[in-house]
Amino acid sequence: MSGAASARRLLMPARETEAIILKTFPLGEADRLVSFFGRSSGRVRGVASGARRLKNRYGSTLEILSHVQIWYVEKETRDLVRIQQAELLESFHKAQSNYDLSTGLAVISEIAELVLPEHEVSEPMFRLILLATREVERTGDWALPLSYFAFWTVRLGGWLPRFDRCVACDTPFGTKPAFYDAHQSGLFCEKCRRAGMKPLQHEARTLAERFAGERLDRIEYHKSMEACARELREASLAWIENHLERRLTTRELLETT
Ligand SMILES: [Zn+2]
Repeated sequence: MSGAASARRLLMPARETEAIILKTFPLGEADRLVSFFGRSSGRVRGVASGARRLKNRYGSTLEILSHVQIWYVEKETRDLVRIQQAELLESFHKAQSNYDLSTGLAVISEIAELVLPEHEVSEPMFRLILLATREVERTGDWALPLSYFAFWTVRLGGWLPRFDRCVACDTPFGTKPAFYDAHQSGLFCEKCRRAGMKPLQHEARTLAERFAGERLDRIEYHKSMEACARELREASLAWIENHLERRLTTRELLETT
């Protein structure tokens, strides 16, 4: 390295942010490629050197959806930052180490990775991911947190259709079912529905209203809510896929757990 280059490098200050780990991939024999969502940095990709070694300084901080404080240095010439250190702020160990619960976390992480633009800060999405993950950990169940997360992702993204009337003919649904599919973003009435569309019953639309007005950790989950939570989750995931123009690979895992 030339004298000028090393001097420039010294001038690059280390950055620090509260962050959520979205994904990690093995990189070479010893390192990990880490995608994290920083509260003050947005979504960033970096390299954690030595993170694959048996004894490494990252411990369990790089687990999926871990809530951490992270220190990193930006490089001038590459998109990847160099991660220097991470400290666990909050552990979601129970959810991360349980197969069923970790599938719920995998869906949250895949969606966050795909919908969040790089380097774009989003305080509402940061809080949403944290809230949903916390509730999976606390309640030991992903059914309600994942419905809430998917619904709010669609809402924050601005892709939520009207829930009260048909997008094609403007007829109010009242208490009748509405219909949707992954090929368009609207809700349709019984007359305008097309082949293959799935129903979103009145109860599921009422749950959406609760989601819009209440925090997830204040909503008590009853077994009786299972069907409408699933319907709302399925519809929200369809709208997310419609927006992304691709299938979510983790979605299939939900159906097998
Ligand atoms: Zn209609």
